[in-house]
Amino acid sequence: MRKRIEDYLGKKINACEYIGHRINFNANNITLCHEAEVGAYILGNVDDFSLNNYELSLLRHIAEVEEGCSICNRCSKCKSIKFENKIAYITINTSDYCNSSCIYCDAHYGKEGSGYNPIPLLEKVKCYIDDNCFFDWGGGEPTLNPYFEESIRWISENGYRQRINTNGIIYSEETEKALDKGTASLRMSLDAGTKECFYRVKGHDKYEDVWNHIRAYRKVSDNIYLKYNVFNLNSEKKEIDEFLSKSTDVDIKHIIIDAEISAYQRELNKGPFFFTRKEFDAIHYLWDECKKKNIDVTVSGYAFSVRPEYDEDKQLKLPSLYFDNIDWETISNGIFPDIFANTTQLIDQIKNKDNIIFGAGSRGKQLLKLCQINKIKGIRIIDNDSTKIGKQIDGIIIEDAQTVLKESNNTFLVVGRYAAEQVKEINNHADKSNKIIWVKEFDI
Ligand code: SF4
Ligand code: SF4
Repeated sequence: MRKRIEDYLGKKINACEYIGHRINFNANNITLCHEAEVGAYILGNVDDFSLNNYELSLLRHIAEVEEGCSICNRCSKCKSIKFENKIAYITINTSDYCNSSCIYCDAHYGKEGSGYNPIPLLEKVKCYIDDNCFFDWGGGEPTLNPYFEESIRWISENGYRQRINTNGIIYSEETEKALDKGTASLRMSLDAGTKECFYRVKGHDKYEDVWNHIRAYRKVSDNIYLKYNVFNLNSEKKEIDEFLSKSTDVDIKHIIIDAEISAYQRELNKGPFFFTRKEFDAIHYLWDECKKKNIDVTVSGYAFSVRPEYDEDKQLKLPSLYFDNIDWETISNGIFPDIFANTTQLIDQIKNKDNIIFGAGSRGKQLLKLCQINKIKGIRIIDNDSTKIGKQIDGIIIEDAQTVLKESNNTFLVVGRYAAEQVKEINNHADKSNKIIWVKEFDI
């Protein structure tokens, strides 16, 4: 006879802590985890999610792990645990669209207006949801979900706790009510102090709105957590001072320090974001200043768990030693690539400059189109492939990279899978009067 969920309750099985305890409602599917190590375990699809299918998925997961044929068998989180089925943590990330375009984020390229109603799905598995379940909102920008307000209300009215990870551009009445009730918290990454840096990092100009919304939320709740992801574009002391000045002005009680994840890592970093000694000093400065102002400050494990250090209370603390992970073989001449949050900023930056696209492949051609659409004049294209030299793309003759790299005062545009190699080559052969812009693939 086929096994049932009840047959496993309280028994030791090979699984991870998420089984029976977590569900992620993602944009395109429903998963048990968000595991990067081996890939998330998929519980099912949004369209045919039901109580029966949820239970069948858990049973399938248990059987597959038992047989050794699940992705979970390769995951370090899989071990012998006592199986319970009380869902204590639910993430709601129903869309990959966002009205911000944070420079380090790719979760804003989804379709505008996307996002499904999570309530019918939650109702289906409500019998398994623990009374103390914690709901974590993310995405994309969750406030853009057409069902956001009613979903916040549903969670709140059912007595669950929730955290809304939002960019703060849209003000949510239901969030304010849940904050006021004491069952919600808000987490927002500000990543800048000044309006200029904010625009540079977030790619939108709603700085004043965001701070006004923070002020309004703060009026009803202490549970507003402002996060600062430190990297080479926002690590100036004046940025941090201004961020703290704005935070104290609205009486913020909690600040979270993080590093930009792709810059703070074990592997040598070729770019486009960097975490140098300056950024290391910045995180410590931010920490010290928070302490001086009696702001509760915590260290995020998102980046800093890469080389974790803990305090006497076993809480993650800031790294005490600087670890230089810059790939100096790539940045050999100190020409760090620059990058922009969106196409508008990119075009603003390259207009009236001597721009050279490095690479006559498909991404280079797309970038050329983007430049032409935006009426950028005088674009040149270079490549290392001798069979391409002298040929034309839209009337532009492809030139020999090695010859052109010896010139001065050019801005090299790199894009695509060879971008890091091209950054290295420019550093190796060009002088410091040249610049590099690393164009985000999604933007072209
Ligand atoms: S064992 Fe790993 S892959 Fe499997 S569900 Fe758990 S975290 Fe995800
Ligand atoms: S607010 Fe920024 S980080 Fe968050 S989803 Fe939008 S673009 Fe990404």
